[in-house]
Amino acid sequence: TAAAQLASLDASKLTVTKTQTPKELTPNKDLVFGKTFTDHMISIEWTAEDGWHTPRIVPYQNLSLDPSTCVFHYAFECFEGMKAYKDKTGGTRLFRPNKNMERLNKSSARIALPKFDGDELVKLIGEFVKLEDRFIPDARGYSLYLRPTMIGTQKTLGVGPPGSALLFVIASPVGPYYPTGFKAISLEATDYAVRAWPGGVGDKKLGANYAPCILPQLEAASRGFQQNLWLFGEEEYVTEVGTMNLFIALKNKETGKKELITAPLDGTILEGVTRDSVLALAREKLEPQGWVISERKIRMSDVAEAAEEGRMIEVFGAGTAAIVSPVRNISYRGKLVDCGLKKEEEAGEIALQMKNWIESIQHGDEAHEWSHVV
Ligand code: PMP
Repeated sequence: TAAAQLASLDASKLTVTKTQTPKELTPNKDLVFGKTFTDHMISIEWTAEDGWHTPRIVPYQNLSLDPSTCVFHYAFECFEGMKAYKDKTGGTRLFRPNKNMERLNKSSARIALPKFDGDELVKLIGEFVKLEDRFIPDARGYSLYLRPTMIGTQKTLGVGPPGSALLFVIASPVGPYYPTGFKAISLEATDYAVRAWPGGVGDKKLGANYAPCILPQLEAASRGFQQNLWLFGEEEYVTEVGTMNLFIALKNKETGKKELITAPLDGTILEGVTRDSVLALAREKLEPQGWVISERKIRMSDVAEAAEEGRMIEVFGAGTAAIVSPVRNISYRGKLVDCGLKKEEEAGEIALQMKNWIESIQHGDEAHEWSHVV
């Protein structure tokens, strides 16, 4: 018999079952990241025989899975992190959602889970956030965090490609990462543990990349550092930090020019949406002012040297959670590398500008192709 036509993901088939027990809203000031969830969730099953099933929005609920389900044993899981924002007219916007869809497809393909039509999932997420409108705080810096997730659901201990999968999306209202303004963080340059390596999966958003990073994070925390700065190889290249990409602004030793540097996409760092946005804005707004914008490898020893020679301008992390997170210093080989902030400062100028530029696009204050109205 001819191979059956596999169904692709089709948002027009969406069915919606509304909750009978709407939740109470958490006051803005009490919001804690990822602790409270909205009334509903998106749930879409996939099977190798039929492809994508009917997409559904259903009341937020437990999953019921057989203990042999492959996600529990072999980590068939990948996810995304993105947000929905209120604009000043009460509308709701997503920020560059196609980037998250592209990345989720790359992640799922790498662990033999199905690919899907990203435009269709963006439409479904649009319907979902409209339904959850009352949960999206409209204050600046507040948003509805969205967690698209795909898991392998085949019941088997056999190691192989899952014959079935579940794609679900849950949502959690969140406040600004720094409710009382920026607070610069301290990093521990980590050389005794490695997050990712060439040919590995560090550029995919797999759950399996995250659990092994918690122990080094606890170790860093026990010494007073908020995050690990992951170094790679004998050269001790600076890669990324915690759940953020890293940007270093310094005066280049050879050219004397101001340079904004971030690690290149060589497979060992996550391809951050915020990273890409910071780079684009830097090329648009800082390059004309004489800045050089570089995606290149930089050794931790060169960062330390820049600090010693007074060439450091500022350092910040970039990610969906905080947009930017200024860095005060980095512990490296028993010394503290000063990242250029004045004692009374919690953020440098570039970090502040980036936060304002990106936030105003996210909240639709400024018309921009990155802002997707649902
Ligand atoms: N690196 C890692 C390891 C991350 O988990 C994240 C968060 N997704 C980022 C960087 C930043 O990516 P994004 O800007 O897309 O949030």
